[in-house]
Formats: sequence, structure tokens, C-alpha cells
Amino acid sequence: MIFVEHCAGCGTRGPVLCRPCRFALVGRASSSPPGVLAAVAFTGRPRDVLLGLKYGNCRPVARHLGGLLVNRLVAAGVRAGVDVDIVTWAPTSRRRRHHRGFDQAELIARAVARQLGLPCRRLLEREGNDPQTGRSRADRLSNPAFRAAPSVTGRRVLVIDDVATTGATLRQASSVLDDMGASSVICAAVAATPGRQRTCQVIQGPWAATPAAVVGEPQQARSPADRSRHPSVPRPAPARTA
Ligand SMILES: [Zn+2]
Repeated sequence: MIFVEHCAGCGTRGPVLCRPCRFALVGRASSSPPGVLAAVAFTGRPRDVLLGLKYGNCRPVARHLGGLLVNRLVAAGVRAGVDVDIVTWAPTSRRRRHHRGFDQAELIARAVARQLGLPCRRLLEREGNDPQTGRSRADRLSNPAFRAAPSVTGRRVLVIDDVATTGATLRQASSVLDDMGASSVICAAVAATPGRQRTCQVIQGPWAATPAAVVGEPQQARSPADRSRHPSVPRPAPARTA
């Protein structure tokens, strides 16, 4: 049986990510919302690839996006088994998941976990059914609310989303994981919408693998004492609840 596939980024017949699109995903500088590690900017071809996964049902591309995020995490000094022992994701609304048949953040999280050799578990439930797209910034900042599973207690969690705009969704997720007793939380997204937050300085250079690295360690993975000693990245303000 022959499977005809299309590139998630440009629609060309062939592999799920053609060579030009694969190259377009690397070497991109990215600014990230505070407290979030992002691999690429949500523009151009990377944006097309993510939308291809989300709306074009190009599920196999999640493996490539997971690899991109793993590169970013490794470049930032995140060590599997040391800084992170479990991977989860910020779930989309139940309505969206039902309509689409899958949760793109879950697919990416599972790909990341596989590549890091770590377990991936559903640790968060979204309260309510409101999706993020189309809502005002103020509304996004105050919502959504998540519930965390009690099994996060004492775990070093990596929580993943596909796209971070203000970073509010991931910070909210981080906050409830924290409240439920996670020992540390690192927030990461494949892409960050550019121009929203510019608080993280970006370094570009030959050593800055793919893509450019953000100065400072992942803030969420550090102890409170360490954070106050070396405040390299501003600690995100506590998320407001509605
Ligand atoms: Zn392509």
C-alpha cells in the first residue's frame, strides 16, 4: 500500500516535512514570554507547519516539532532525569479536542518525552470549554483555569504547549502544578508569538544551536533561594484567577 503524504509546511507531496521546510525551522531567533522556553518564532514557515499540525491533521509532524523543542531544552541546559522527570502538556479545551480528534500539545509532549526517555502523563485538566483563540488579552490572562492531578507531588515537571502568545496559559498551568506540590516546573512551547513580550534577551551565534538561546536558565526549574540570588529572568507575576 502506498501512502501519499503532504508537507505540513507547504503542502508539497512527499514527506510530512520537506527539506526546505525542515531548514526553515532551524536557526531562528525567538523571543519568549517570561517563564517560557520557546524554540521558534510563530511566523513564516514554522507558523505554517504548526497550523498544518493543528488544522491540517498532519500529526506525524509532531515528532519533528518535538525534536525542535528538545534541541531548545538541551541548549538551555535542561537535563532529562535531573531537571525534569515527567512531561505533560497544557490541554486544549474538550470541545476543541473532540472536534479535532487530537490535542496537538499532547502529540508534541509525547514526542518530546519519547526523545528525552521520560514518561508523559496527563497531569492537567482544563476547567470549562473556552478555547484561547479569538479572546482578548485580558481574558487570556485571567483564564483558563486548570486543575492538576495529585500525582504531581514531588515531581519535576516539564509542561508543553504548541504556541505561547502571552505565556499566560503555561504560567497558569505551572501555578496549579506548583500548588499541587510539584517540586519544579519548566514551561516550554514550540513557538512564541513575536512582539508580545521582549523581556528575554536573545543571543545569536554559532554555538547557539537551533535556534538561538535565551539568556538565563529556565527560571521555573530553580529553587526559590537560587532565584533570588540570581534573578536572571524576571519571575512571572502570579496568574490572576477569574
Ligand atoms: Zn514543505
